[in-house]
Amino acid sequence: VSSLLTRCRTFKVLVIGDSAVGKTCLTHRLCAGEFPSRVEATIGVDFRERQLDIHGEKIKLQLWDTAGQERFRKSMVQHYYRNVHAVLFVYDVTCPASFCSLTAWIEEFRQNSLGQEIPRFLVGNKSDLRDPSRTDSQVSQEQATSFAKAHGMMCFETSAKNPPNKCGSGRRGDGEVLYQQ
Ligand code: GDP
Ligand code: MG
Repeated sequence: VSSLLTRCRTFKVLVIGDSAVGKTCLTHRLCAGEFPSRVEATIGVDFRERQLDIHGEKIKLQLWDTAGQERFRKSMVQHYYRNVHAVLFVYDVTCPASFCSLTAWIEEFRQNSLGQEIPRFLVGNKSDLRDPSRTDSQVSQEQATSFAKAHGMMCFETSAKNPPNKCGSGRRGDGEVLYQQ
């Protein structure tokens, strides 16, 4: 990925997943460094940018956030899937239905991305709401790991609200990696 980054000035990343899994909050957290106090439902496609310094090279990370609604997706799809460098497939760890939907999201991505081989990541959001006593109504890390493996993705669990490990060394607020495949 870093060799790809150094070649691209703007790095386009799609954020895909069901409504309410936290796509808007995650992109806000990544680009503004904070959890938004209030989010509007996303209409159509929105993007936010963040400037990164990778080995001395200035890179623009452009996060494309979408509305989950079918009626918006259809009209935006072509523009949206063009020149993509990476995809985040997001689900809510406390909402198994959002995890089940990923198969359809991945299939839609496959159909529209014209066979581009790009890095894809599985992101389980809202880890702050994980309740160890209620495993039946949550997506386990084992489920996520095996799903990611089956689809050739890296997987992460995070929280846009309370990033698991807030550390002070320049990565604050990014939603830290808890585990990865
Ligand atoms: P989107 O439809 O996928 O863009 O989801 P939003 O970003 O609009 O978030 C949906 C709801 O989930 C909002 O009420 C957020 O405040 C809440 N939310 C998003 N991320 C988190 C998180 O990491 N933890 C918690 N507890 N709530 C979150
Ligand atoms: Mg949204």
